[in-house]
Amino acid sequence: MADYYEVLGVSKEASPEEIKKAYRKKALQFHPDKNPDDSNAEKRFKEVAEAYEVLGDAKKKEMYDRYGADAFQPGMGGGGGHPGMGGFSSMEDALRTFMGAFGGGGGESIFDSFFGGGGGGQESRAQQGASKKATINISFEEAAKGVEKEIALTNYITCHKCHGLGAASQKGIKQCPRCGGAGQVYQSRGFFSMSSACPQCQGEGQVVTDPCKECSGQGRIREKRKVKVRIPAGVDTGMRLRMAGHGDAGINGGPSGDLYVVVQVAAHDVFERQGDDIILELPMGFAEAALGCKKEIPTLFGTCRLTIPEGTQHGKVVRVKSEGFPNVHGQGKGDLLVRMIVETPTNLTGKQKELLQQFGDLENENNHPRKKSFFDKIKSFF
Ligand SMILES: [Zn+2]
Ligand SMILES: [Zn+2]
Repeated sequence: MADYYEVLGVSKEASPEEIKKAYRKKALQFHPDKNPDDSNAEKRFKEVAEAYEVLGDAKKKEMYDRYGADAFQPGMGGGGGHPGMGGFSSMEDALRTFMGAFGGGGGESIFDSFFGGGGGGQESRAQQGASKKATINISFEEAAKGVEKEIALTNYITCHKCHGLGAASQKGIKQCPRCGGAGQVYQSRGFFSMSSACPQCQGEGQVVTDPCKECSGQGRIREKRKVKVRIPAGVDTGMRLRMAGHGDAGINGGPSGDLYVVVQVAAHDVFERQGDDIILELPMGFAEAALGCKKEIPTLFGTCRLTIPEGTQHGKVVRVKSEGFPNVHGQGKGDLLVRMIVETPTNLTGKQKELLQQFGDLENENNHPRKKSFFDKIKSFF
């Protein structure tokens, strides 16, 4: 067996940093992705990985310095049963060593240099639960006043029998034999060695050998539950309320997801909403508009009396202060905008026509300042 110091090309006095650096250089040089179909390079790649597994580890290095490579032969102890120790038989182990030496090194990862960041590192197994979306339908009045509603959800919740462990007992969890607990497996793909989640343990590094009967080893169960949603006064269609922690339970101790409640406000028969203001179209007769009148009009929370002045024109808008929607962020209230709709009378009786004709005969240009001004302007055309 080759001398590990020679394999890496370092002296016996080399510092851990120098050893790592030397390994990285050699490993990149002999990496199988860079030397396809070169069995010699493959052999060298495994060799340097093996050397680094020992010299890169203070304890193993000490054993090696004292007893030589024999310390790592099967049955001799001292190696701690590391996979592949005493000669790397598998390329997978050599690649794992390679990834280990490049991963998480503060900007020195091979993915940083080749891909511009990300990937390959040791991720936490904890996963946040999925966030959920629910739509809630409320009436126009409920939107104005605020309301508390209950919605039914089917969520993943932490299994109450195993408390999310997934196993019937702590002993029912074993290190994954396929990935040795790393959660990742390595394979060569094209130019690079890629890591992917271990197919046996789905990246968790552990397998459940004695699954909890309640949740079949999932650690979570689906359960129907009701959630009370407090909808603030002033909400509008499309607004989203976030209810932290009301989504699915997390995995392996991860936090729960959130619940997003999307509000849908029903249309109203007479009111129309415009931001915090509401619009009411108020139809009135021609005589009422001309003579002026008082009208009882509906508001969001009751009624109010509105004085319509003499000579009110069609389309005029009267603003009734603070009779609109409360602002959802607590910033005051909108107004009620009453738009006058003057309705020209139809289906006239003979008597009505007669009186209207008499009225028409008495009209003068002061009755219609707008009409007068228009015809004054177009006189020059005729
Ligand atoms: Zn369970
Ligand atoms: Zn695994």
